[in-house]
Amino acid sequence: MCYAIPGRVAEVKDGVAVVDYFGEKRNVLCDFADVRKGEYVYAQGGVLISKIPEKEAVEILEAWKEKFFELKELDRTTSKIHENADASGNILQILQKVNRNQELGKKDALELLGTDDGEDIKLIMETANNVRQKDHDNACCVHGILEFSNYCTQDCMYCGIRKGSSVKRYRMTPEEIIDAARHASKELGFKALVLQSGEDPWYDDEKLERIVREVRRLDVLIFVSIGMRPKETYKRLYDAGARAALLRFETSNKDLFEKLRPGTKLEDRVQLIRDLNDMGYVVATGFLTGLPGETNEDLVNNILLTKELGADMYSFGPFIPTDGTPLQSESKPDVDRVLKATALARFMDRKSKILVTTALETVDKGAKKKGLMSGGNSLMINITPSKYRDLYRIYPGKAGNDKKTEENINDTIELLYSLGRAPTDLGL
Ligand code: SAH
Repeated sequence: MCYAIPGRVAEVKDGVAVVDYFGEKRNVLCDFADVRKGEYVYAQGGVLISKIPEKEAVEILEAWKEKFFELKELDRTTSKIHENADASGNILQILQKVNRNQELGKKDALELLGTDDGEDIKLIMETANNVRQKDHDNACCVHGILEFSNYCTQDCMYCGIRKGSSVKRYRMTPEEIIDAARHASKELGFKALVLQSGEDPWYDDEKLERIVREVRRLDVLIFVSIGMRPKETYKRLYDAGARAALLRFETSNKDLFEKLRPGTKLEDRVQLIRDLNDMGYVVATGFLTGLPGETNEDLVNNILLTKELGADMYSFGPFIPTDGTPLQSESKPDVDRVLKATALARFMDRKSKILVTTALETVDKGAKKKGLMSGGNSLMINITPSKYRDLYRIYPGKAGNDKKTEENINDTIELLYSLGRAPTDLGL
């Protein structure tokens, strides 16, 4: 099974290949392999991942051809905006700005976020989905996430695997990690894998480097998601073949950050994200929504900071109160607030991908679809071996944990097809 379809190299210039997908052209960076015009390749997140023999590529493309155009057509239909006379006048005015491609200011954003009217929210979501279709077409990345250790030296007050938590700990050996990645790539067809853990120094630079080097040999785009590590560690991992990093700044509100993440500083985390960008990493970053004490203004600032950091992918989801943490009795997450934030991010940063998180789906079965219909265009599927899955308990009741990975893949593909989305990554 394939999550990324092959493309044909139309041209190569200055280390960038123009790749053709049934007439659609995308630019991809080709520092992993020398390619020539006419060759077939897989690309993910704007990075060329591997070459494919022509015969194999042509066969796959033949199988995809009809579906490719069929899905696009369905997406075009599904993403039309319906007339909505019942939406409020001020909301209509702001959405007209969006339709005219004008930038939204903070005041507009706060206005959109502030409405609780069902008709307003419906129109905001539809408009965001329409913008997503126009600017990004129907591609939806589906990355695999492997949670390889729940040991953590940090004591973040919201997190179920914080140092002070009594959760049973596990760490996968480098061999187990490489085997799980091999299974995900070779048997399940993933072209991009996120390697995530708590901040666990047991994995020193040497171990991490070896893991990245071996996983990279499987021809996948590697995201590292290992928290605050020295810049030099990330540089080493880049040199070993990691090309993407997932690191949320969690909240742009300095006071809230320092209260919820004792002993750490927002500036340091933000600086590391900037450094990752400078090193050439594809950067996925974002925040938690609905942290206790968070205002609407904080949420808008979170989106603006994600944009300022040059995020290639937005990753934000609801904070879910977790038993055994200091925030266990806080209020339940508000799904509409996350959906409005998704739409806002889509309006305020048109070029970026937006991840629809498992946390959102955990709060509301069916929210994955709502997220995809509010501007989201990226998903992750858990590929952690089942014996460890429940132990990576950053929050309880994680959606999909009760099912086999194969089942989650089938459900995801079925959902994406029903909306006219292609579970593939066409590059930039
Ligand atoms: N050590 C890595 C990975 C942390 S876990 C790092 O520091 O980046 C991945 C993400 O889970 C965190 O960035 C945080 O935003 C999210 N998370 C933690 N606790 C959560 C909770 N209770 N509800 C929802 N998301 C949570």
